[in-house]
Amino acid sequence: MKDINKVKESFLKAVRPEMSDMSYNTWFVPTGIRRIDEEDRIVYITAENDFAANILKTRYNSIIEDSFRKILKQDYRIIIKTPESYRHDEQNLERVNEIKSEGSATPSGTSMGASGLPFPDDTFDNFVVGSGNKYAHAAALAVAESPSHAYNPLFIYGGSGLGKTHLLHAIVIYLKEHRPELNVLYVSSEMFTNELIKALGENKQREFKNKYRKVDVLLIDDIQFLENKETTQEEFFHTFNDLYDLNKQIIITSDRPPNELTTLEERLRSRFSWNMIAGLSPSDYETRVAILVKKSENYNMKMDDDLYQVICLIAEKITDNNRELEGAIKRINTFSTLFHEHINVAFAKGILTEILKNNKNNVTPDKIKTTVCRKFNLKMSEIDSSKRTNKVAYPRQIAMYLCRTMTDYSYTQIGNYFGGRHYTTVMHACEVIQKEIGRDDDKRNLISSLKEEIKA
Ligand code: ADP
Ligand code: MG
Repeated sequence: MKDINKVKESFLKAVRPEMSDMSYNTWFVPTGIRRIDEEDRIVYITAENDFAANILKTRYNSIIEDSFRKILKQDYRIIIKTPESYRHDEQNLERVNEIKSEGSATPSGTSMGASGLPFPDDTFDNFVVGSGNKYAHAAALAVAESPSHAYNPLFIYGGSGLGKTHLLHAIVIYLKEHRPELNVLYVSSEMFTNELIKALGENKQREFKNKYRKVDVLLIDDIQFLENKETTQEEFFHTFNDLYDLNKQIIITSDRPPNELTTLEERLRSRFSWNMIAGLSPSDYETRVAILVKKSENYNMKMDDDLYQVICLIAEKITDNNRELEGAIKRINTFSTLFHEHINVAFAKGILTEILKNNKNNVTPDKIKTTVCRKFNLKMSEIDSSKRTNKVAYPRQIAMYLCRTMTDYSYTQIGNYFGGRHYTTVMHACEVIQKEIGRDDDKRNLISSLKEEIKA
Protein backbone atom coordinates (compact mmCIF):
# COMPACT_ATOMS: atom_id res chain seq x y z
CA MET A 1 0.00 0.00 0.00
CA LYS A 2 1.20 3.45 -0.87
CA ASP A 3 1.21 6.17 1.74
CA ILE A 4 -1.28 8.67 0.35
CA ASN A 5 0.19 11.67 2.17
CA LYS A 6 3.62 10.96 0.77
CA VAL A 7 2.17 10.58 -2.69
CA LYS A 8 0.39 13.90 -2.37
CA GLU A 9 3.66 15.54 -1.33
CA SER A 10 5.55 14.04 -4.27
CA PHE A 11 2.71 14.98 -6.56
CA LEU A 12 2.82 18.64 -5.58
CA LYS A 13 6.57 18.65 -5.86
CA ALA A 14 6.42 17.12 -9.34
CA VAL A 15 3.90 19.54 -10.79
CA ARG A 16 5.27 22.63 -9.07
CA PRO A 17 7.90 23.55 -11.74
CA GLU A 18 5.40 23.06 -14.56
CA MET A 19 3.30 26.16 -13.92
CA SER A 20 3.00 29.61 -12.39
CA ASP A 21 2.63 30.13 -8.64
CA MET A 22 -0.84 31.39 -9.26
CA SER A 23 -2.05 28.27 -11.07
CA TYR A 24 -0.29 26.01 -8.66
CA ASN A 25 -1.88 27.61 -5.62
CA THR A 26 -5.31 27.90 -7.17
CA TRP A 27 -5.72 24.49 -8.74
CA PHE A 28 -3.26 22.06 -7.21
CA VAL A 29 -2.77 22.91 -3.56
CA PRO A 30 -6.45 22.34 -2.72
CA THR A 31 -6.63 18.94 -4.43
CA GLY A 32 -7.02 15.76 -2.43
CA ILE A 33 -5.74 12.35 -3.38
CA ARG A 34 -8.45 10.01 -2.24
CA ARG A 35 -7.50 6.60 -3.30
CA ILE A 36 -4.91 4.75 -5.32
CA ASP A 37 -6.39 1.64 -6.77
CA GLU A 38 -3.35 -0.46 -7.51
CA GLU A 39 -5.28 -3.35 -8.94
CA ASP A 40 -7.13 -1.33 -11.55
CA ARG A 41 -4.41 1.35 -11.71
CA ILE A 42 -6.51 4.37 -11.00
CA VAL A 43 -5.74 7.45 -8.97
CA TYR A 44 -8.81 9.18 -7.58
CA ILE A 45 -8.33 12.89 -7.07
CA THR A 46 -10.80 15.41 -5.76
CA ALA A 47 -10.85 19.09 -6.67
CA GLU A 48 -12.53 21.87 -4.75
CA ASN A 49 -15.53 22.17 -7.05
CA ASP A 50 -16.78 21.28 -10.52
CA PHE A 51 -15.05 24.22 -12.08
CA ALA A 52 -11.66 23.31 -10.65
CA ALA A 53 -12.16 19.67 -11.57
CA ASN A 54 -12.81 20.67 -15.17
CA ILE A 55 -9.76 22.88 -15.34
CA LEU A 56 -7.57 20.10 -13.99
CA LYS A 57 -9.03 17.61 -16.43
CA THR A 58 -8.78 19.76 -19.51
CA ARG A 59 -5.74 21.90 -18.98
CA TYR A 60 -3.48 19.83 -16.76
CA ASN A 61 -4.34 16.26 -17.55
CA SER A 62 -1.04 15.28 -19.13
CA ILE A 63 1.02 17.02 -16.45
CA ILE A 64 -0.92 15.08 -13.83
CA GLU A 65 -0.57 11.79 -15.65
CA ASP A 66 3.14 12.29 -16.17
CA SER A 67 3.76 13.11 -12.54
CA PHE A 68 1.95 9.98 -11.37
CA ARG A 69 3.79 7.88 -13.87
CA LYS A 70 7.00 9.10 -12.26
CA ILE A 71 5.82 8.67 -8.70
CA LEU A 72 4.10 5.31 -9.09
CA LYS A 73 6.41 3.94 -11.77
CA GLN A 74 3.50 2.85 -13.90
CA ASP A 75 0.69 4.30 -16.01
CA TYR A 76 -2.36 5.18 -13.99
CA ARG A 77 -5.71 6.45 -15.11
CA ILE A 78 -6.55 9.68 -13.37
CA ILE A 79 -10.06 10.37 -12.22
CA ILE A 80 -10.86 13.83 -10.96
CA LYS A 81 -14.10 14.61 -9.21
CA THR A 82 -15.63 16.89 -6.66
CA PRO A 83 -15.65 15.45 -3.13
CA GLU A 84 -19.44 15.02 -3.34
CA SER A 85 -19.47 13.07 -6.55
CA TYR A 86 -16.50 11.02 -5.41
CA ARG A 87 -18.39 9.98 -2.29
CA HIS A 88 -21.44 9.24 -4.33
CA ASP A 89 -19.51 6.93 -6.66
CA GLU A 90 -17.77 5.17 -3.82
CA GLN A 91 -21.15 4.39 -2.31
CA ASN A 92 -22.35 3.21 -5.68
CA LEU A 93 -19.42 0.89 -6.02
CA GLU A 94 -20.05 -0.51 -2.58
CA ARG A 95 -23.64 -1.06 -3.53
CA VAL A 96 -22.60 -2.82 -6.70
CA ASN A 97 -20.49 -5.19 -4.68
CA GLU A 98 -23.29 -5.75 -2.22
CA ILE A 99 -25.77 -6.46 -4.97
CA LYS A 100 -23.32 -8.88 -6.50
CA SER A 101 -22.88 -10.84 -3.33
CA GLU A 102 -26.59 -10.77 -2.51
CA GLY A 103 -27.41 -11.96 -6.00
CA SER A 104 -24.97 -14.79 -5.76
CA ALA A 105 -25.99 -16.00 -2.33
CA THR A 106 -29.00 -17.80 -3.67
CA PRO A 107 -28.21 -19.05 -7.13
CA SER A 108 -31.15 -20.63 -8.92
CA GLY A 109 -33.33 -20.15 -5.87
CA THR A 110 -31.97 -23.08 -3.88
CA SER A 111 -31.08 -23.02 -0.22
CA MET A 112 -27.37 -22.92 -0.96
CA GLY A 113 -27.00 -19.41 0.37
CA ALA A 114 -28.09 -20.75 3.71
CA SER A 115 -25.24 -23.25 3.76
CA GLY A 116 -23.01 -20.27 4.44
CA LEU A 117 -20.25 -21.45 2.15
CA PRO A 118 -17.80 -18.80 1.07
CA PHE A 119 -18.05 -19.90 -2.56
CA PRO A 120 -21.78 -20.09 -3.31
CA ASP A 121 -21.28 -19.40 -7.04
CA ASP A 122 -19.10 -22.39 -7.75
CA THR A 123 -21.96 -24.78 -8.48
CA PHE A 124 -22.29 -27.47 -11.13
CA ASP A 125 -25.00 -25.30 -12.68
CA ASN A 126 -22.52 -22.49 -13.12
CA PHE A 127 -19.83 -24.72 -14.60
CA VAL A 128 -19.80 -24.54 -18.37
CA VAL A 129 -19.03 -27.91 -19.91
CA GLY A 130 -16.92 -28.09 -23.08
CA SER A 131 -14.46 -30.35 -24.82
CA GLY A 132 -11.59 -29.45 -22.48
CA ASN A 133 -13.39 -30.29 -19.25
CA LYS A 134 -16.19 -32.71 -19.97
CA TYR A 135 -14.51 -35.79 -18.46
CA ALA A 136 -13.43 -34.00 -15.32
CA HIS A 137 -16.91 -32.53 -14.99
CA ALA A 138 -18.60 -35.90 -15.49
CA ALA A 139 -16.31 -37.57 -12.96
CA ALA A 140 -16.86 -34.82 -10.39
CA LEU A 141 -20.60 -35.01 -10.82
CA ALA A 142 -20.58 -38.80 -10.52
CA VAL A 143 -18.63 -38.57 -7.29
CA ALA A 144 -21.00 -35.92 -5.92
CA GLU A 145 -23.98 -38.12 -6.74
CA SER A 146 -22.57 -41.25 -5.19
CA PRO A 147 -19.58 -40.59 -2.98
CA SER A 148 -17.40 -43.64 -2.29
CA HIS A 149 -19.21 -45.57 -4.99
CA ALA A 150 -18.34 -43.90 -8.27
CA TYR A 151 -14.62 -43.19 -8.48
CA ASN A 152 -12.44 -43.37 -5.45
CA PRO A 153 -10.01 -41.70 -5.26
CA LEU A 154 -10.69 -39.15 -7.93
CA PHE A 155 -7.75 -37.16 -9.21
CA ILE A 156 -8.36 -34.01 -11.27
CA TYR A 157 -5.48 -32.14 -12.84
CA GLY A 158 -4.99 -29.15 -15.13
CA GLY A 159 -3.34 -25.77 -15.53
CA SER A 160 -4.12 -22.70 -13.50
CA GLY A 161 -7.58 -21.18 -13.90
CA LEU A 162 -9.18 -24.14 -15.65
CA GLY A 163 -11.77 -24.91 -12.99
CA LYS A 164 -10.23 -27.40 -10.56
CA THR A 165 -11.25 -25.50 -7.46
CA HIS A 166 -14.65 -24.72 -8.98
CA LEU A 167 -15.32 -28.44 -9.43
CA LEU A 168 -14.29 -29.24 -5.85
CA HIS A 169 -16.52 -26.47 -4.55
CA ALA A 170 -19.36 -27.73 -6.72
CA ILE A 171 -19.04 -31.16 -5.13
CA VAL A 172 -19.11 -29.60 -1.66
CA ILE A 173 -22.20 -27.52 -2.45
CA TYR A 174 -23.95 -30.49 -4.00
CA LEU A 175 -23.26 -32.72 -1.01
CA LYS A 176 -24.32 -30.07 1.52
CA GLU A 177 -27.62 -29.91 -0.23
CA HIS A 178 -28.28 -33.56 -1.03
CA ARG A 179 -26.38 -35.38 1.68
CA PRO A 180 -26.33 -33.09 4.72
CA GLU A 181 -25.57 -36.05 6.99
CA LEU A 182 -22.12 -36.47 5.45
CA ASN A 183 -19.08 -34.84 6.96
CA VAL A 184 -17.49 -33.07 4.00
CA LEU A 185 -14.15 -31.33 4.30
CA TYR A 186 -12.52 -29.13 1.69
CA VAL A 187 -8.92 -28.07 2.29
CA SER A 188 -6.20 -26.63 0.16
CA SER A 189 -2.79 -28.21 0.60
CA GLU A 190 -1.76 -25.00 2.26
CA MET A 191 -4.54 -25.19 4.81
CA PHE A 192 -3.65 -28.80 5.48
CA THR A 193 0.01 -27.92 5.95
CA ASN A 194 -0.68 -24.94 8.19
CA GLU A 195 -3.07 -26.90 10.35
CA LEU A 196 -0.58 -29.66 10.72
CA ILE A 197 2.23 -27.30 11.66
CA LYS A 198 -0.04 -25.65 14.19
CA ALA A 199 -1.05 -29.01 15.62
CA LEU A 200 2.56 -30.10 15.91
CA GLY A 201 3.51 -26.83 17.59
CA GLU A 202 0.69 -27.04 20.12
CA ASN A 203 1.01 -30.73 20.66
CA LYS A 204 -2.42 -31.39 19.25
CA GLN A 205 -1.64 -34.12 16.79
CA ARG A 206 -4.46 -36.21 18.13
CA GLU A 207 -7.07 -33.51 17.49
CA PHE A 208 -5.66 -33.09 14.02
CA LYS A 209 -5.87 -36.80 13.32
CA ASN A 210 -9.38 -37.05 14.72
CA LYS A 211 -10.62 -34.23 12.63
CA TYR A 212 -9.38 -35.79 9.45
CA ARG A 213 -10.33 -39.34 10.31
CA LYS A 214 -13.92 -38.25 10.93
CA VAL A 215 -14.64 -37.01 7.45
CA ASP A 216 -16.71 -38.90 4.91
CA VAL A 217 -15.55 -36.90 1.94
CA LEU A 218 -12.13 -35.26 1.84
CA LEU A 219 -11.30 -32.82 -0.93
CA ILE A 220 -7.69 -31.67 -1.16
CA ASP A 221 -6.90 -28.86 -3.57
CA ASP A 222 -3.54 -28.24 -5.26
CA ILE A 223 -1.69 -31.25 -3.91
CA GLN A 224 1.42 -30.27 -5.88
CA PHE A 225 2.28 -27.90 -3.05
CA LEU A 226 3.06 -30.88 -0.85
CA GLU A 227 5.82 -31.98 -3.17
CA ASN A 228 8.76 -30.90 -1.09
CA LYS A 229 7.19 -30.98 2.32
CA GLU A 230 8.27 -34.25 3.85
CA THR A 231 6.40 -34.11 7.15
CA THR A 232 3.17 -32.93 5.64
CA GLN A 233 3.38 -35.56 2.97
CA GLU A 234 3.87 -38.22 5.57
CA GLU A 235 0.80 -37.09 7.48
CA PHE A 236 -1.24 -36.77 4.33
CA PHE A 237 -0.20 -40.26 3.35
CA HIS A 238 -1.48 -41.67 6.64
CA THR A 239 -4.70 -39.72 6.47
CA PHE A 240 -5.19 -40.83 2.94
CA ASN A 241 -4.61 -44.50 3.72
CA ASP A 242 -6.89 -44.49 6.74
CA LEU A 243 -9.73 -42.85 4.87
CA TYR A 244 -9.23 -45.11 1.92
CA ASP A 245 -9.40 -48.17 4.14
CA LEU A 246 -12.63 -46.86 5.63
CA ASN A 247 -14.02 -46.46 2.13
CA LYS A 248 -14.32 -42.71 2.46
CA GLN A 249 -14.33 -40.59 -0.65
CA ILE A 250 -11.12 -38.75 -1.53
CA ILE A 251 -10.81 -36.15 -4.26
CA ILE A 252 -7.53 -34.54 -5.15
CA THR A 253 -6.55 -31.82 -7.55
CA SER A 254 -3.16 -30.89 -8.88
CA ASP A 255 -1.61 -28.85 -11.64
CA ARG A 256 -0.04 -32.03 -13.06
CA PRO A 257 -0.99 -35.67 -13.47
CA PRO A 258 0.03 -38.02 -10.64
CA ASN A 259 2.96 -39.54 -12.50
CA GLU A 260 4.64 -36.14 -12.55
CA LEU A 261 4.33 -35.72 -8.81
CA THR A 262 7.25 -37.97 -8.28
CA THR A 263 7.63 -38.26 -4.54
CA LEU A 264 3.94 -38.34 -3.74
CA GLU A 265 3.07 -40.71 -6.48
CA GLU A 266 5.64 -43.29 -5.46
CA ARG A 267 4.23 -43.52 -1.98
CA LEU A 268 0.64 -43.58 -3.02
CA ARG A 269 1.16 -45.94 -5.90
CA SER A 270 2.51 -48.56 -3.58
CA ARG A 271 -0.96 -48.83 -2.03
CA PHE A 272 -3.32 -48.82 -4.96
CA SER A 273 -3.74 -47.62 -8.49
CA TRP A 274 -5.56 -44.38 -9.15
CA ASN A 275 -9.15 -45.14 -9.80
CA MET A 276 -9.90 -42.15 -11.94
CA ILE A 277 -7.63 -39.49 -13.37
CA ALA A 278 -9.31 -36.66 -15.23
CA GLY A 279 -7.46 -33.87 -16.97
CA LEU A 280 -8.65 -30.35 -17.71
CA SER A 281 -7.36 -28.59 -20.79
CA PRO A 282 -7.97 -25.04 -21.99
CA SER A 283 -11.47 -24.36 -23.26
CA ASP A 284 -12.21 -24.07 -26.96
CA TYR A 285 -13.57 -20.83 -28.36
CA GLU A 286 -17.26 -21.73 -28.05
CA THR A 287 -16.81 -22.77 -24.43
CA ARG A 288 -14.97 -19.56 -23.65
CA VAL A 289 -17.84 -17.57 -25.10
CA ALA A 290 -20.31 -19.65 -23.08
CA ILE A 291 -18.33 -19.08 -19.89
CA LEU A 292 -18.33 -15.33 -20.49
CA VAL A 293 -22.07 -15.33 -21.17
CA LYS A 294 -22.63 -17.24 -17.95
CA LYS A 295 -20.49 -14.88 -15.92
CA SER A 296 -22.19 -11.82 -17.41
CA GLU A 297 -25.53 -13.31 -16.32
CA ASN A 298 -24.16 -13.82 -12.84
CA TYR A 299 -23.20 -10.15 -12.75
CA ASN A 300 -26.68 -9.17 -13.96
CA MET A 301 -25.25 -7.56 -17.09
CA LYS A 302 -27.74 -6.80 -19.81
CA MET A 303 -27.07 -8.89 -22.90
CA ASP A 304 -27.21 -7.07 -26.22
CA ASP A 305 -25.27 -7.07 -29.48
CA ASP A 306 -22.59 -4.79 -28.12
CA LEU A 307 -21.96 -6.91 -25.06
CA TYR A 308 -21.89 -10.02 -27.20
CA GLN A 309 -19.22 -8.50 -29.41
CA VAL A 310 -17.18 -7.64 -26.35
CA ILE A 311 -17.52 -11.22 -25.18
CA CYS A 312 -16.28 -12.50 -28.54
CA LEU A 313 -13.32 -10.13 -28.37
CA ILE A 314 -12.34 -11.37 -24.94
CA ALA A 315 -12.79 -15.00 -25.97
CA GLU A 316 -10.47 -14.44 -28.91
CA LYS A 317 -7.74 -12.81 -26.87
CA ILE A 318 -7.78 -14.81 -23.69
CA THR A 319 -7.39 -18.40 -24.65
CA ASP A 320 -6.07 -20.60 -21.92
CA ASN A 321 -7.22 -19.42 -18.54
CA ASN A 322 -10.86 -19.25 -17.50
CA ARG A 323 -9.98 -17.15 -14.49
CA GLU A 324 -8.66 -14.42 -16.76
CA LEU A 325 -11.81 -14.59 -18.83
CA GLU A 326 -13.82 -14.00 -15.72
CA GLY A 327 -11.52 -11.20 -14.55
CA ALA A 328 -11.93 -9.37 -17.85
CA ILE A 329 -15.72 -9.40 -17.90
CA LYS A 330 -15.86 -8.50 -14.24
CA ARG A 331 -13.66 -5.50 -14.79
CA ILE A 332 -15.79 -4.28 -17.65
CA ASN A 333 -18.89 -4.64 -15.53
CA THR A 334 -17.39 -2.73 -12.62
CA PHE A 335 -16.25 0.14 -14.79
CA SER A 336 -19.46 0.44 -16.72
CA THR A 337 -21.45 0.59 -13.48
CA LEU A 338 -19.08 3.06 -11.93
CA PHE A 339 -19.04 5.45 -14.86
CA HIS A 340 -22.56 4.74 -16.07
CA GLU A 341 -21.20 3.85 -19.47
CA HIS A 342 -22.73 1.60 -22.08
CA ILE A 343 -20.59 -1.43 -22.82
CA ASN A 344 -19.30 -1.79 -26.34
CA VAL A 345 -16.08 -2.85 -28.02
CA ALA A 346 -14.43 0.58 -27.85
CA PHE A 347 -15.21 0.89 -24.16
CA ALA A 348 -13.89 -2.62 -23.52
CA LYS A 349 -10.68 -2.00 -25.41
CA GLY A 350 -10.06 1.10 -23.33
CA ILE A 351 -10.47 -0.83 -20.13
CA LEU A 352 -8.70 -4.00 -21.10
CA THR A 353 -5.61 -2.50 -22.74
CA GLU A 354 -3.33 -4.10 -20.19
CA ILE A 355 -4.99 -7.47 -20.33
CA LEU A 356 -5.15 -7.55 -24.11
CA LYS A 357 -1.56 -6.42 -24.38
CA ASN A 358 -0.21 -8.79 -21.76
CA ASN A 359 -1.99 -11.63 -23.32
CA LYS A 360 -0.47 -10.94 -26.66
CA ASN A 361 2.90 -11.44 -25.01
CA ASN A 362 1.71 -14.62 -23.41
CA VAL A 363 3.58 -17.57 -24.70
CA THR A 364 1.35 -20.38 -25.92
CA PRO A 365 2.35 -23.79 -27.25
CA ASP A 366 0.80 -22.73 -30.55
CA LYS A 367 3.12 -19.79 -30.83
CA ILE A 368 6.09 -22.00 -30.02
CA LYS A 369 5.10 -24.53 -32.61
CA THR A 370 4.62 -21.99 -35.38
CA THR A 371 7.88 -20.22 -34.61
CA VAL A 372 9.88 -23.43 -34.58
CA CYS A 373 8.24 -24.66 -37.78
CA ARG A 374 9.04 -21.39 -39.50
CA LYS A 375 12.66 -21.55 -38.40
CA PHE A 376 13.14 -25.10 -39.69
CA ASN A 377 10.89 -24.82 -42.71
CA LEU A 378 8.46 -27.44 -41.54
CA LYS A 379 4.72 -27.76 -41.91
CA MET A 380 2.70 -27.83 -38.71
CA SER A 381 1.38 -31.23 -39.68
CA GLU A 382 4.93 -32.58 -39.95
CA ILE A 383 5.90 -31.70 -36.44
CA ASP A 384 2.87 -33.58 -35.09
CA SER A 385 3.31 -36.52 -37.42
CA SER A 386 4.92 -39.81 -36.51
CA LYS A 387 7.95 -39.07 -38.71
CA ARG A 388 11.21 -39.66 -36.94
CA THR A 389 13.70 -38.40 -39.48
CA ASN A 390 16.20 -36.01 -38.06
CA LYS A 391 14.81 -33.18 -40.12
CA VAL A 392 11.57 -33.39 -38.11
CA ALA A 393 12.57 -35.09 -34.88
CA TYR A 394 15.11 -32.50 -33.81
CA PRO A 395 12.91 -29.40 -34.24
CA ARG A 396 10.16 -31.31 -32.50
CA GLN A 397 12.41 -31.88 -29.52
CA ILE A 398 13.29 -28.21 -29.45
CA ALA A 399 9.64 -27.22 -29.59
CA MET A 400 8.81 -29.62 -26.75
CA TYR A 401 11.65 -28.26 -24.69
CA LEU A 402 10.47 -24.69 -25.28
CA CYS A 403 6.92 -25.62 -24.31
CA ARG A 404 8.16 -27.12 -21.11
CA THR A 405 10.35 -24.16 -20.19
CA MET A 406 8.22 -21.29 -21.46
CA THR A 407 4.73 -22.41 -20.47
CA ASP A 408 3.38 -24.26 -17.47
CA TYR A 409 2.12 -27.20 -19.50
CA SER A 410 2.90 -30.60 -18.06
CA TYR A 411 4.88 -33.27 -19.89
CA THR A 412 1.65 -35.12 -20.52
CA GLN A 413 -0.12 -32.07 -21.89
CA ILE A 414 2.81 -31.32 -24.17
CA GLY A 415 2.86 -34.91 -25.37
CA ASN A 416 -0.82 -34.67 -26.22
CA TYR A 417 -0.19 -31.45 -28.00
CA PHE A 418 2.44 -33.01 -30.25
CA GLY A 419 0.35 -35.67 -31.88
CA GLY A 420 -0.44 -37.62 -28.72
CA ARG A 421 3.06 -38.61 -27.70
CA HIS A 422 3.86 -40.30 -24.41
CA TYR A 423 5.05 -38.01 -21.62
CA THR A 424 8.35 -39.90 -21.37
CA THR A 425 9.09 -38.85 -24.96
CA VAL A 426 8.70 -35.24 -23.91
CA MET A 427 10.87 -35.76 -20.85
CA HIS A 428 13.53 -37.32 -23.01
CA ALA A 429 13.39 -34.44 -25.49
CA CYS A 430 13.82 -31.94 -22.70
CA GLU A 431 16.83 -33.77 -21.33
CA VAL A 432 18.46 -33.98 -24.75
CA ILE A 433 18.06 -30.28 -25.49
CA GLN A 434 19.07 -29.28 -21.98
CA LYS A 435 22.31 -31.22 -22.35
CA GLU A 436 23.02 -29.74 -25.77
CA ILE A 437 22.58 -26.23 -24.50
CA GLY A 438 25.07 -27.03 -21.78
CA ARG A 439 27.85 -27.98 -24.11
CA ASP A 440 27.19 -26.28 -27.42
CA ASP A 441 27.23 -22.50 -27.82
CA ASP A 442 25.55 -22.58 -31.23
CA LYS A 443 22.64 -24.55 -29.85
CA ARG A 444 22.37 -22.22 -26.91
CA ASN A 445 22.21 -19.24 -29.26
CA LEU A 446 19.66 -20.94 -31.43
CA ILE A 447 17.41 -21.59 -28.45
CA SER A 448 17.71 -18.09 -27.11
CA SER A 449 16.98 -16.49 -30.46
CA LEU A 450 13.92 -18.73 -30.78
CA LYS A 451 12.82 -17.64 -27.34
CA GLU A 452 13.17 -14.00 -28.28
CA GLU A 453 11.07 -14.55 -31.38
CA ILE A 454 8.39 -16.39 -29.46
CA LYS A 455 8.19 -13.67 -26.84
CA ALA A 456 8.15 -10.85 -29.40
P1 ADP B 1 -8.16 -23.56 -10.84
O1 ADP B 1 -8.50 -24.02 -9.47
O2 ADP B 1 -8.08 -24.67 -11.83
O3 ADP B 1 -6.94 -22.69 -10.89
P2 ADP B 1 -10.66 -22.18 -10.61
O4 ADP B 1 -11.56 -23.32 -10.34
O5 ADP B 1 -10.31 -21.32 -9.46
O6 ADP B 1 -9.34 -22.64 -11.37
O7 ADP B 1 -11.33 -21.31 -11.77
C1 ADP B 1 -10.97 -19.96 -12.00
C2 ADP B 1 -12.21 -19.15 -12.25
O8 ADP B 1 -12.76 -19.49 -13.51
C3 ADP B 1 -13.30 -19.41 -11.23
O9 ADP B 1 -13.92 -18.21 -10.91
C4 ADP B 1 -14.24 -20.36 -11.92
O10 ADP B 1 -15.56 -20.16 -11.49
C5 ADP B 1 -14.07 -19.97 -13.37
N1 ADP B 1 -14.22 -21.14 -14.24
C6 ADP B 1 -13.26 -22.03 -14.57
N2 ADP B 1 -13.76 -22.98 -15.40
C7 ADP B 1 -15.05 -22.68 -15.58
C8 ADP B 1 -16.12 -23.27 -16.33
N3 ADP B 1 -15.92 -24.37 -17.07
N4 ADP B 1 -17.33 -22.69 -16.27
C9 ADP B 1 -17.54 -21.58 -15.54
N5 ADP B 1 -16.59 -20.96 -14.83
C10 ADP B 1 -15.36 -21.50 -14.83
MG1 MG C 1 -7.55 -23.67 -7.69
